[in-house]
Amino acid sequence: MPSIQTSFNYNSPTEIRRLLDQEGLGMRKKFGQNFLIDARARDILIDALPKEAGWGVWEIGPGIGAMTSGLLERGCQVTAFEIDEGFCKILHDFFDTNPNFTLIEGDVMKTWKEGRARPAPTGTPGGAPVSCYLLGNLPYTIGAALIADFIENQQFFQRQVVMLQKETADRMLAKPGSKNYSSFSVLCQSVYTIEPLLRLKGASFYPEPHVESAAVTMTLKKDINLPASFYPLVRGLFAQRRKTVRNNLNNFLKRTTEGTENPEFLLEKAGLDGKLRAEDLSLEDFTALAKIVEKDYNSR
Ligand code: SAM
Repeated sequence: MPSIQTSFNYNSPTEIRRLLDQEGLGMRKKFGQNFLIDARARDILIDALPKEAGWGVWEIGPGIGAMTSGLLERGCQVTAFEIDEGFCKILHDFFDTNPNFTLIEGDVMKTWKEGRARPAPTGTPGGAPVSCYLLGNLPYTIGAALIADFIENQQFFQRQVVMLQKETADRMLAKPGSKNYSSFSVLCQSVYTIEPLLRLKGASFYPEPHVESAAVTMTLKKDINLPASFYPLVRGLFAQRRKTVRNNLNNFLKRTTEGTENPEFLLEKAGLDGKLRAEDLSLEDFTALAKIVEKDYNSR
């Protein structure tokens, strides 16, 4: 029996509109609902994931299943996270007969740990917490916050393929010295190799967003070994972007060690010039300084 999802035309705004009308649903701006109606772009995103049999994929924000259907057709095991109750009903109608489909309803910022608690699908390389791959035409409202939350909670994926607002993707790819380089760039690049994949104008989506979009691939680095103070320190050094590393470090130490450490001494030990700004420091510079600060941070 052909399933509904294979016959649904995800490229047609008319057909999408008809389905939503039939279900009494509208598109909700606050949830960043812009469906990807460009089949070529969907294929590029899905094909950027590794192609092992039985691979497990977390899909964030499946909407009415444009990419879910492609993932299931390729034989992967999908755990989808969707907040919109109306879309969840459609997803259940379309995909519940497929044993490879699991839907976790609600706000992914709150529910993703439920996904982590499940065993990794057979055939997925790596054990928890590197449990699977991730795909998402992410709701732009929460894209950066979600990626940061995963990293800071050590929920790593062998590879993530994410579509985001272009400016967010630019920050993920930014190199030291550029205006887009931020604590978010360092956070992402500390555990992933980030590469540009695709840029799309509004016409590839329904309804058309007023922003440009870009997709990146995030491939997990090997042998990650960051000190516990790394992320708090990076955020601290970027806290006041126009201030020097020395000033920001001083404020960070006041908060975390009650100012018992001398910032100049720590910077010298890490081989860093205190007159620089955080935007001038490389990942290696942040790591070296975090290792020096580590002792104090652990004894807070
Ligand atoms: N994947 C679909 C596509 O490409 O056509 C829809 C992508 S749309 C940009 C974002 C989706 O994320 C919507 O379905 C929206 O309801 C869902 N969403 C928004 N905020 C969410 C949240 N906090 N938790 C889970 N899903 C969310």
